[in-house]
Amino acid sequence: MDMKIGVIKGDGIGPEIVGEAMKVLDKVAEVYGHSITYTQLLMGGASIDVNGVPLTEETLKAAKESDAVLMGSIGGDAKTSPWYQLEPSRRPEAGLLALRKGLNLFANLRPAVLYDELKGACPLKEEIADRGFDMMIMRELTGGLYFGKRGTEEVDGVLTARDELTYNENEIRRIAKRAFDIAMKRGKKVTSVDKANVLDSSRLWRKVVEEVAKDYPEVALEHMLVDNCAMQLVKDPAQFDVILTENMFGDILSDEASMVTGSIGMLASASLNETKFGLYEPSGGSAPDIAGKGIANPIATILSAAMMLKYSFDLDREADAVEKAVAEVLSEGYRTIDIMSEGKIQIGTKEMGDRISSHIK
Ligand code: NAD
Repeated sequence: MDMKIGVIKGDGIGPEIVGEAMKVLDKVAEVYGHSITYTQLLMGGASIDVNGVPLTEETLKAAKESDAVLMGSIGGDAKTSPWYQLEPSRRPEAGLLALRKGLNLFANLRPAVLYDELKGACPLKEEIADRGFDMMIMRELTGGLYFGKRGTEEVDGVLTARDELTYNENEIRRIAKRAFDIAMKRGKKVTSVDKANVLDSSRLWRKVVEEVAKDYPEVALEHMLVDNCAMQLVKDPAQFDVILTENMFGDILSDEASMVTGSIGMLASASLNETKFGLYEPSGGSAPDIAGKGIANPIATILSAAMMLKYSFDLDREADAVEKAVAEVLSEGYRTIDIMSEGKIQIGTKEMGDRISSHIK
């Protein structure tokens, strides 16, 4: 297969961790007989330095022309970086929002997996961690409260702010379908999370999800209120396979789920639109505190590249090979500094990438 991949190396540790993910992709291509063409794209702080804006029309166009985009993280230290002297619409994060919007990326996927080898990093009780977990949080990304009308005004002399939460049935249906499709590739269970006891938008959410579920008789559907879900994630995370939810609930729950894995350097993510296109990036930020030191953990970016193979290119076997290579290197005892524990062998960013590549056979 010929893969046209746009690459946004980004800021801070971005270029270091993306470099290792490209190394692993190149090895996959070599072993499995694929070819990859990379197009380097500038976004975030790196684009501000060159173009004065965090995302140009040309970059967006080039991203659209790619089959998928692999991205490091963008942004700098908000206190010291000159990027944050600019008005908000010209700062690095504005580029990311414009890119997601321009590419119509409505489905955000964040796996939260507890690796056997990293159980010690899980902040939950041992008996809960011992059961392990492997879930996919599927968050709606372009609707809901974050994109609704908002405003602040004086009402009868009192300052009053309002934010509108709107969803239409089409927005709900397209993400629900994606969630059921993904559940079919996994454990065939969808937990749809809402606040249907209070919110109209949640009642519509529930109705549409139930309609979609009829087309997937093999997938078990359950509904869960968001407050209960927040509790269940720390009480019994092993019960979840795919969690499907709206934008704000997903924002909060996906961070909670990722924290119970214990390590930010391990967390992959994907954002998809209605086609096979996706933007794949680690969940963490650009970590300016460790940038350039060669110690960042590249695994989240490497696992994001594995998601790209699976969801944009349908190369499930190749994606599994990458995930297996990561697990093998961990089981051999190699760790970057963020996941280091007693008795293990500490290595840097490049060596981690080299070791994972060498396990792809
Ligand atoms: P961060 O995720 O960059 O860092 C939080 C902590 O985690 C730091 O101590 C960092 O060293 C560590 N860390 C993160 N990734 C790591 C890795 N791969 N290996 C080892 N350690 C890692 O969060 P922050 O400090 O709040 O944000 C820094 C910048 O990143 C900000 O400009 C923020 O806006 C941006 N950011 C970007 C994205 C994105 O590009 N999608 C996401 C979150 C934050």
